[in-house]
Parts: sequence; C-alpha cells; structure tokens
Amino acid sequence: MEYDVVVVGGGPAGMGAAIESSKTGAKTLLIERDYRLGGILNQCIHNGFGLHYFQEELTGPEYADRFRQLLSETNVDIMLNTFVTSIDGKKMTIINEKGAQVIEPKAIVLAMGCREKTAGSIKLTGTRPVGIMTAGQVQKLVNFYGKLPGKKVVILGSGDIGLIMARRLTFEGAKVEMVLEIMPTSSGLARNIRQCLDDFNIPIYYNTTITEVMGEDRVTGIKYARVDEKMRPIPETEKYLDCDLVVLSVGLTPENDIVQNKRINPKTQGFFVNEYRECDDGVFACGNVLQVHDLVDNVTAESTLAGYYAGQYALGRLQKGAEHGIIAGDGIRYTVPSSYFESDDDVEIYFRVLDRYVGSDIVVTENDIIIAKKSTVALTPGEMSSIKINKTNLKNDICVSIRKR
Ligand SMILES: Cc1cc2nc3c(=O)[nH]c(=O)nc-3n(C[C@H](O)[C@H](O)[C@H](O)COP(=O)(O)OP(=O)(O)OC[C@H]3O[C@@H](n4cnc5c(N)ncnc54)[C@H](O)[C@@H]3O)c2cc1C
Repeated sequence: MEYDVVVVGGGPAGMGAAIESSKTGAKTLLIERDYRLGGILNQCIHNGFGLHYFQEELTGPEYADRFRQLLSETNVDIMLNTFVTSIDGKKMTIINEKGAQVIEPKAIVLAMGCREKTAGSIKLTGTRPVGIMTAGQVQKLVNFYGKLPGKKVVILGSGDIGLIMARRLTFEGAKVEMVLEIMPTSSGLARNIRQCLDDFNIPIYYNTTITEVMGEDRVTGIKYARVDEKMRPIPETEKYLDCDLVVLSVGLTPENDIVQNKRINPKTQGFFVNEYRECDDGVFACGNVLQVHDLVDNVTAESTLAGYYAGQYALGRLQKGAEHGIIAGDGIRYTVPSSYFESDDDVEIYFRVLDRYVGSDIVVTENDIIIAKKSTVALTPGEMSSIKINKTNLKNDICVSIRKR
C-alpha cells in the first residue's frame, strides 16, 4: 500500500484531517479500529456540537454524519476494523482480518483520541464491587444499549462527560445525589454546570472527594470528605452516603501509547507540536490525542491544519521559516502549538489557564514587549481559550500570560 498520508483514527479529528489532506492532492488513507467512523461522537446523543463550525446545534452523531458525508465526496481510502498497533517514525504496523502489515507513508496524522482515567489510575480507595464505572462506559450503556447501571448515583469529578451523564441519568429515572470535585473549580464547561446540574438541582461540592467506596458484591455507599489545600481529606468532615453507582469523570488521557520515541508535554500528556501540528518529522497530531478538547469545533479547526500540512509535507511543498518557542507564562498551563515559524501571516495559539480569572487580559509578549492583547470577561481551566497574532516582524520566542486589568 503506497500512500502520501495515512491518518490514524476515524473520529472527528481523523475525518477532518483526511478531508483536508486529500484536498491538497495527497493520496490519503484513513484507518479506524471500530466498524464505523465517528469516534466518541457516536455515543454523545446530546446536543451542543457544531455551534461554531456549522453555526447550528447538532447532536454528536449528526456532527459525525456531516463529516462522513464530506468524506464520501473525497477520494480518501478508508479502512475500518483495522488497528494500528505501533508507529515508529513513519513506519506503522496495522492489523485487521487480513493479518498484519507494515506500511510507511510519506506523512502520518495521529488522531487516536483519548481514554478515560479509571478507579485504578486515580487510586480510588475502598472495595472494588460492581457499580464503579467511568462516565463514558455509563454513556455507552445508557445511550447504546438502553441499560440503567444504577439508581442512586454519585459522580466523582466534574468533567464534561460526568456532567452530561448527571442529566442523562436523571432523564432515565435515576437519582443523582451529588457531584464531588476535588478541585476548587469545575473542569467542565460553565454551560454544562448550568444545563446539567443547576437545572436539575443536583448539588456539586468542590474541594471534596470520595474517601472510601463500600460494598462487597455491589456498591452500597461511599464515604466522602472535604480536602485541605494539599488535597488531603479532612477526617472530621467525613460523611457517609448510600448509593449503588459511582461514576468517574476524573479526566482523560491521550491515547498515544502506540507511538514510539515520542516527545510528550507533561502538562497535557499529549505531544509537543510546532505551528503545523507536527510532533516529529512528517508526523502530525490533532484532536484529543494532542490535547483534550471540550468543543468538537476546535477539534475540527485543529485537524484541518494537521491534515493540510501533512498533505503539503508529503508532496514536498511544506515551507518552514526560522522556528521560535511559544512559552506558557503566568496563569497559563500550556499552549498549543509550542512553537511558530517566522512568516507574515497569523498564528492562533490555543491554551488553558491554571485558575479562574475574572476581568483579565490575555497578553502576548516578545522580549517583554506586548505584541498582542485580548480582554476577557472570565477564563476558567475547563474552557480552552485562544488568541490570534500576526507574525510579521516576530523574530524571537514569545510568551502568553494572563494579567489582571
Ligand atoms: C461525553 C462527551 C461529551 C462531549 N460533549 C461535547 C459537546 O457537547 N459539544 C462539543 O462541541 N464537544 C463535546 N465533546 C468533545 C468532542 O466531542 C471531542 O473532543 C471530540 O469528539 C474528540 O475527537 P477525536 O477525533 O480527537 O477523538 P475520538 O472521537 O475519540 O476519535 C478517536 C478515534 O480513533 C480511533 N483509534 C484510537 N486508537 C486507534 C488505533 N490504534 N488504531 C485505529 N484507530 C484508533 C478510535 O476508535 C476513535 O474512533 C464531548 C466529548 C465527550 C467524550
């Protein structure tokens, strides 16, 4: 199989990248391990997708369907039920019903999404009975199979999937007792707190966590307590609650294990990428495998870039000016990209903040001189932000930070 570009993962990121790559004229293959394209969107039957990209409010499957349609109008080859098991440089091993093969395209786009953190990965204490599930597992059971895995529910973590599932389980007749969040703020979108918790009188307790899961065969209850500033439970605040389902919404990890010799950003667990979303020579990344996104519209914007530049690279047309760093300054957890190339066009820098900031400016500096500024009403760690800058005259590392107005 000879391809200019191979895209790994057929979620919204992979579909967007494949479409854009093929538009450059590059011979493109899209590989997906599932029996259909769409990724996580297939199980997200709530609305809230596509507000920016399509200026419409779509459900996850509808958004995926739009891209399946756009893909069918291109000449991208698609391999379903095919697992990429290893990527070393630009050499990849794939396995499907025909057996294993090694292919080496001219460029690769990584779009494998992410996976949920589990009870083991957050060292949840207590027993391990039936009834401890990740929010995505519950979402699949309820939305795909019509099964209700519990009736008296506690949600640990306030990530978007957990918030969405609080509302969904309520619709299906379960009683969601509370959401517990160890941090002082939610990691989910503000609109999801309003629409999924406040509208249904579901309480959320910040600085609070589960101290013990109880039950032998099945979850029977939990102990929970407030935590101090070092996130240690405060024993005298511990309480008990009856429940039969603990839903974990405690974070996502980019699904990048198959990639050898990677340069991982410890802040995102995704790759370090340059302005072209390139993480290694001729290897590009986009979507949740690069950074966990709250809005699919941003996934599409990112995958459009990765697919375009992968196509240009494969066809030998990618120009790169001198490269300079983009530094995460005060108040900024990380930026994507981590570097830019000198030229006279624009670059949009995406980032997440470390805390909640009200009435602050996003400031970009070069050698301590402000080159761009954007005023904001409120910034929260749960919502990705961005600032676009023009690169004409930029010749050094630049720094993005938050400043009080
Ligand atoms: C529960 C939930 C609710 C959300 N709600 C909203 C919302 O209301 N509005 C909104 O805009 N956004 C929302 N989002 C965010 C948005 O949907 C995601 O950020 C986006 O779908 C991620 O796209 P992706 O393509 O990077 O990953 P995915 O959709 O996870 O796709 C990755 C694909 O790669 C495949 N894959 C992985 N590894 C391999 C391999 N080794 N070989 C072959 N294939 C592989 C997987 O099977 C999968 O199909 C939500 C996300 C979740 C999880």
